[in-house]
Amino acid sequence: MAIREVTVLGAGQMGSGIAQTFAQHGYQVGLYDIESTAVDRGIAGIEGSLTRFVRKGSLTEEDKSRIMQQIHPSTDLGIANRSQLVIEAIPEKMELKTAIIQALDSICMPDAILATNTSSLSITAIAAVSGRPDLVIGMHFMNPVPIMPLVEIIRGLATSDATFEQIQTITQQLGKTGVEVQDAPGFVSNRILMPMINEAIYTVYEGVAAPEAVDQVMKLGMHHPMGPLTLADFIGLDTCLSIMETLHQGFSDSKYRPCPLLRKYVSAGWLGRKTGRGFFVYDQ
Ligand code: NAD
Repeated sequence: MAIREVTVLGAGQMGSGIAQTFAQHGYQVGLYDIESTAVDRGIAGIEGSLTRFVRKGSLTEEDKSRIMQQIHPSTDLGIANRSQLVIEAIPEKMELKTAIIQALDSICMPDAILATNTSSLSITAIAAVSGRPDLVIGMHFMNPVPIMPLVEIIRGLATSDATFEQIQTITQQLGKTGVEVQDAPGFVSNRILMPMINEAIYTVYEGVAAPEAVDQVMKLGMHHPMGPLTLADFIGLDTCLSIMETLHQGFSDSKYRPCPLLRKYVSAGWLGRKTGRGFFVYDQ
């Protein structure tokens, strides 16, 4: 089935970036969120991002208005009923993801592909609640989506070859490289990245160094473009904690124990850039 219309669920930083990227490549895109304020924020974020592309000269004002017109915001999940591909980018909680995947069964066309942008959760378990596990797949975009060239593509146990090939093709059409990885906690990206971020948080927790110093060591010493604590704030500390919990539970290995300071920040609502405060403070 040719994919022309896509619906993205969750208009947060990932969902809005995914919607923007598909629209920039000519697709009609539904952008759904449970909160109307989140939809408005998502649309404003997309507009801001496209404006930056116009300023840099890589898009024209006409491109920008055409792309904006291709994005259809909604707080009604029914918007997914005409899409050949639905991508969920709601919070990293298994119970939220399985509930929405289950709800999609009665809304979507029977042959629509359901992709999840989960950072760490089992694709097999998400697919198991669906009446179409062969059409469920992991499509893990990187942040910020319009810029980053990688998509991790993860098959669940029941994902069909046809589903995998269609997602590989569409990833290429978006100008990105799809890398196939197996269904294991955190896949490859977050199995490697998140323990490093967690360890950086431990160094602050144990008083080894201040957040600024930790980031400086990794930037100047290891040539990382962004320090691990700045990156954690950028990803969202709630998402970082959920990923560490998935690794900890999934491997039953204490080396993945989330740092208590990470838990404390999330309890305080200090979620990083998106709430204005995490390891650093941001202008909203
Ligand atoms: P976010 O907090 O920025 O956005 C989540 C959005 O989902 C919010 O707008 C919220 O209102 C909405 N939402 C909550 N419950 C919902 C529901 N039941 N139905 C519809 N919308 C709902 O989160 P994010 O950073 O965009 O992350 C979303 C997903 O993408 C997570 O699974 C995360 O692990 C994954 N991911 C995140 C990053 C990153 O760097 N932040 C990178 C790759 C993948």
